[in-house]
Amino acid sequence: MHPFRKAFRALHRESLKCDSVQTDNALDGLDAELEALAIEHFGDVGDHEDDGFGPPTASVQVLCRHCRDHYLSSEMVRAYRPARQSAMVGMLGTDVDTLEPLWWCKNRCDGAGYQLDIVPVGEPRQ
Ligand SMILES: [Zn+2]
Repeated sequence: MHPFRKAFRALHRESLKCDSVQTDNALDGLDAELEALAIEHFGDVGDHEDDGFGPPTASVQVLCRHCRDHYLSSEMVRAYRPARQSAMVGMLGTDVDTLEPLWWCKNRCDGAGYQLDIVPVGEPRQ
């Protein structure tokens, strides 16, 4: 099994032991740990080619279609967020060799990609 997939599963299993009551802090901790693990295995986010779904240079108001939050496109986050790419993680070592960082919603939700899940709702700010 791909070493990252193995480590991911171990951490994920650990997190599931905490039962249904998971505090945001615990999830933050797990996300941070998984992110660090992904960087360790797949390199810095900035070393990967941009997927082209990042925010525009001039920040605009956006709506995330998943969590319905409004915010500035500059607040989008480029990261691995392995827990939200679990399908890709499951294919590591078989169909894919690496995990690619994506542009994500600033919140803890599955929204990703400017013009995909995260859409502009206003004019560019000066
Ligand atoms: Zn969102």
